Amino acid sequence: MANAGITSHRPTSDSLYDRACQLFPGGVNSPVRAFKGVGGKPVFIHSGSGAHIQDVDGNRYLDFLGSWGPLIFGHADPDIVASIVAAASQGTSFGASTQREIDLAERIRLAMPSIERMRFVSSGTEATMSALRAARGFTGRTKLVKIDGGYHGHADTLLASAGSGALTLGIPGSAGVTAASVADTLVVPFNDLEAMEAVFSAEANKDQIAAVIVEPIPGNMGLVLPRPAYLPRLRALCDQYGALLIFDEVMTGFRVAAGGAQERLGVRPDLTTLGKIIGGGFPVGAYGGRADLMKRIAPEGPVYQAGTLSGNPVAMAAGLATLRETNRSGFYPTLERRTARLVDGLRSAARRHGVPITAGHAGSMWGVYFAQGPIRNYADAKTADAKLFARWHHAALARGIFLAPSAFEAGFVSSAHADADIDCTVTELDAALAEARGM
Ligand code: PMP
Repeated sequence: MANAGITSHRPTSDSLYDRACQLFPGGVNSPVRAFKGVGGKPVFIHSGSGAHIQDVDGNRYLDFLGSWGPLIFGHADPDIVASIVAAASQGTSFGASTQREIDLAERIRLAMPSIERMRFVSSGTEATMSALRAARGFTGRTKLVKIDGGYHGHADTLLASAGSGALTLGIPGSAGVTAASVADTLVVPFNDLEAMEAVFSAEANKDQIAAVIVEPIPGNMGLVLPRPAYLPRLRALCDQYGALLIFDEVMTGFRVAAGGAQERLGVRPDLTTLGKIIGGGFPVGAYGGRADLMKRIAPEGPVYQAGTLSGNPVAMAAGLATLRETNRSGFYPTLERRTARLVDGLRSAARRHGVPITAGHAGSMWGVYFAQGPIRNYADAKTADAKLFARWHHAALARGIFLAPSAFEAGFVSSAHADADIDCTVTELDAALAEARGM
């Protein structure tokens, strides 16, 4: 997005970006980092500590990106770093089994009992891609239902009407994804039970739907909350039609509660995908669920899936240290209270400035739309004022608040954000909104 109003005060960042553009498409290794959704040049980060990050020009920011979700303890948490160092000093990869995989898996299963068996992979994309293959392998069916604006990583089949970066860039799917690879992907709006029922009852889909994949609390079209009846009814529909229910909890797992959205909302999926927090800032994903179903995965069963670095010991150590710390009593309620304080503050600020706002949170995941609302799905989300968001983002950045560089992403509060940080953030974002509105 061209934005003539943006002047950068980050000369080192700008020169690194120029070099990066000679090496990487768009100068980045993941599209949404390129700031295309808000205009201007991306910021290059030097380091992070607790709730703060520092860029290569020495500017400090309170960070609400949190690496897109994994860093529930903020940056360079000493206990987590110590665990990583200890593991790395014993060897970084073996391609053979280690105890840490078991320790982490046992913790995950304790928090999410629906995950009776699991498999570690190296990203959220791998997790969803593999879960889908497992679902098809188990049911012998081909079709998949996904949500319009739901993002499940960049596997071909799942890139139909996807959110997050795909949404920010205005690409409904992706070039290079063949019509054949999305031909079996059916797309319905979130929170719309009639549309879901219509898909299931259509004669053309009879006995053909292998699974429904859904972010139970979507965070890739901004943050959208499910209607209370939505997920329970989805569970019932899957049972009625013999389809599997896959919860993509890559973002919500250990974020909205230790047991993820499934614990918070009381709905048990057949399969769950995880990522982000379970890797404590390292590349980890996992998929798992019913034991009878996971028995179909190689080498026990015929559904093939593998990975050289799966269950990497350093990544497992980071995940283990992270989950161990989230176990502290009062951890999630404190985080949620701070997040509510932030969201309430933003709501009041917007009202004071006469800016329409729909803001919400689930645990320490939060989202703001500059729109009257209600925001129930992707179509509603698109009514938000993305231009105002872009100006707000840059005004916030100049005031030392680092928000996700897109109007369609969730924000994350970490345990390193103290009450005083939240109050300071509200003050700065309030002033940033006044500036953005006047621009
Ligand atoms: N599923 C969800 C819900 C996600 O939010 C993401 C990433 N933001 C993914 C899957 C893909 O994960 P990764 O980027 O690790 O491949």
